[in-house]
Amino acid sequence: MDWTGIKGAVLKDVSMKRYTSMKVGGTVKYMVYPIDDEDLLGVVARLSENRIKYRFLGNGTNIIVSDSGLEEALIRVTRINILRHRDNGDTCTVTVSGGMSLKRFILDCARRGLSGLERLYWIPGTVGGGIKMNAGSFGSSISDCLEDVVVFHKDSGFMTVTKKDMSFGYRSSSISREDCVFIARFNLQKKDKKEILRDMYYVYSERKNRHPMEFPSSGSIFKSVEGEPAWRFIEKAGIKGMRVGGACVSEKHANFIINLGGATARDIKVLMDMIKKEVFERFGVVLEEEVELWGFDDRATEN
Ligand SMILES: Cc1cc2nc3c(=O)[nH]c(=O)nc-3n(C[C@H](O)[C@H](O)[C@H](O)COP(=O)(O)OP(=O)(O)OC[C@H]3O[C@@H](n4cnc5c(N)ncnc54)[C@H](O)[C@@H]3O)c2cc1C
Repeated sequence: MDWTGIKGAVLKDVSMKRYTSMKVGGTVKYMVYPIDDEDLLGVVARLSENRIKYRFLGNGTNIIVSDSGLEEALIRVTRINILRHRDNGDTCTVTVSGGMSLKRFILDCARRGLSGLERLYWIPGTVGGGIKMNAGSFGSSISDCLEDVVVFHKDSGFMTVTKKDMSFGYRSSSISREDCVFIARFNLQKKDKKEILRDMYYVYSERKNRHPMEFPSSGSIFKSVEGEPAWRFIEKAGIKGMRVGGACVSEKHANFIINLGGATARDIKVLMDMIKKEVFERFGVVLEEEVELWGFDDRATEN
């Protein structure tokens, strides 16, 4: 594959252990870091010409890649840094690149006295990954104060899509697998910085108390079921602490699978299937994955 003309970095045969918060997974063929919009267009065109499938990767905090990896390219817009502000009086319109870390962005908003996203503090993903997943916590979702996004798609190029033309649900959005959230615009309220920081500190300490932050994980593995958190079913099923290889159902938060060290993607998947089976048999409840499983159609890792 000839990458001549692409300005950003291209890494080959990259281990996903390094690029996912669960720290498991095989290798991907290419990992590409476009440096601007033109470069992104070039990267996607080059991959399409060569019939190489691609996906967009943020911080890898909501995905589990199979041990056999992916014969695909992952495109990361995490090296493109855009942050602009437009003062509207009581509010401010903030334009931010999709690859920016959500934590960094929220901290910057707080320092400027801009409120709206602080309850999402410490979600470890990027702005783009957050929008795709409609990330949320403590009663807020990233889509609440979103105005519009600039989405890139290979067929339509860069397009501004307003929030009313998108749909957002619980941990879901209308952003498709082939869309890249390149830029997002938020409308944030001006507020006393101290109040915002107090809220963020509350969120951080609650997370620290509830989540097993000391181990690699992908956050919540399963979605809530009709408003009932998945951890309640898992806890009631008495399977906290259940282990497969290096993967374990966290004692601290039953909806977290943690990597105790040396877990494989297969360990995680087998444990997930065991949890689903147990919860279904005990309560007739079908748990649905919140994390995305990439490359698990390969039989070697499925069983
Ligand atoms: C310790 C921990 C705590 C967590 N707590 C929460 C929580 O409280 N609430 C919550 O909602 N989630 C939580 N998560 C899950 C995760 O952080 C979020 O889903 C986050 O929004 C994923 O962002 P990411 O950049 O890591 O996306 P990735 O995991 O890299 O990707 C997730 C999806 O987004 C897509 N994507 C990524 N970037 C882009 C882009 N620029 N354009 C288009 N698509 C893109 C990917 O293709 C994939 O489909 C937690 C995870 C961990 C590890």
